[in-house]
Amino acid sequence: MKTIIEPFKIKSVEPIKFTTPAEREEILKKAGYNVFMIPAEDVIIDLLTDSGTSAMSASQWAGIMNGDEAYAGSRSFFKFENAVKKITGHKFIIPTHQGRAAEKILFSIVGGKGKYIPNNTHFDTTRANVEFTGAEAVDFLNEIGKHPEVKADFKGNMDAEKLENFIKKVGARNIPLVMITVTNNSGGGQPVSMQNIRDVRSVCDKYGLPLFLDACRFAENAYFIKLREQGYQNKSVLEIAREMFSYADGATMSAKKDALVNIGGFLSMNDEALATKCRNLLIVTEGFPTYGGLAGRDLEAVAQGLEEVLDENYLQYRIKSVEYLANKMTSAGIPIIEPPGGHAVYIDAKRFLPHIPPEEYPGQAIVCEIFRVGGVRGVEIGSVMFGKYDENGKLIPPPMELVRLAIPRRVYTQSHIDYVAEVLIETYKNREKLRGFKITYEAPMLRHFTCRFEPL
Ligand SMILES: *Cc1c(COP(=O)(O)O)cnc(C)c1O
Repeated sequence: MKTIIEPFKIKSVEPIKFTTPAEREEILKKAGYNVFMIPAEDVIIDLLTDSGTSAMSASQWAGIMNGDEAYAGSRSFFKFENAVKKITGHKFIIPTHQGRAAEKILFSIVGGKGKYIPNNTHFDTTRANVEFTGAEAVDFLNEIGKHPEVKADFKGNMDAEKLENFIKKVGARNIPLVMITVTNNSGGGQPVSMQNIRDVRSVCDKYGLPLFLDACRFAENAYFIKLREQGYQNKSVLEIAREMFSYADGATMSAKKDALVNIGGFLSMNDEALATKCRNLLIVTEGFPTYGGLAGRDLEAVAQGLEEVLDENYLQYRIKSVEYLANKMTSAGIPIIEPPGGHAVYIDAKRFLPHIPPEEYPGQAIVCEIFRVGGVRGVEIGSVMFGKYDENGKLIPPPMELVRLAIPRRVYTQSHIDYVAEVLIETYKNREKLRGFKITYEAPMLRHFTCRFEPL
């Protein structure tokens, strides 16, 4: 087997600005030790997110020039609609400017006080949009997905039995829909099996509930199914994706992930009455239903990206390059969620820094240190992002303390990734010297974006 190479050549480049550790120490201090507050120019390798950070292809850029900017009935809309229908098979396709706009519209209509939305694991914006309506977001991740050290093929699966018990407990009439996130971003970028989607579908059928996919990384999930699930080896990724969507009544999607664009998203569904309500709200908040908060050129780029993401040479490179970083880390003893996910490697901060309790945010300590050591930006996915307080103001930590290193699509080469591994290994060697943080300012919602810290 030869080296799996980047399946593209580079025609346009962006320079990287270099800084010293002392400069980065200052940058961190100024940012209140919150890496969301660091100017991107001061980052050497930016693994904050894979969202909207993809490098577009020459064909996508050509699509940008070809965009039809007609307010109503734009040619680019129909191209976009066809591309989404080809994959989802859903009847009604509603463009939105990104994933959370689709969530906002959907949950404004189906959510509300007294309602519950089950998911394998809600992504942060999904949870926020559910809770903003007064509804409750509940996670039913399969037990195995909660054990970072255990290797398994489909750690994103939902616990269909727990879901059913919950439906019995709160009543199907209080559950407007069930959601499955593919791949499970907040749970480690882990895939969901086709069998699990089918199992959840049959629970939904039993209680007459619609099933929606949070489909941001549908192509990566489909490729994992091809690699890991019996009976799918000889199917194309498009066929697998179509089967996944065939079990769902609708989907929300951030095109900033698997549509390989810098902005965009959509809401798809089969229920006409619901689609009409969504479109009416879309007109108030996003725009006319044939552009939905995007320019015609953005719709062209999404349509082209949805085609390119299904290329199996691309998906092989994508999944293997994440695994490449993960292997370098585990070889050095760095604890990660195993196996690595499709779009990111997740460091298990509890095992990395056992001397720092959740109340002192071990994930944040790693995030700051890898920035200081090498200018690498990752993100905490633990008590900073998901922590709540009890009535006495004591932190209720989530089950895992993670640091996500998300790999932008088609952006970095193998030597960039080698450099990241070196920074991580150096940080790991010095782990006993790291100390925790305390929060000095926080917003009432999605606090991780704007909060400020002080080192302990
Ligand atoms: C990114 C993401 C969203 C939200 O999409 P945005 O385009 O960032 O608004 C929702 N769910 C999942 C799983 C995501 O990864």
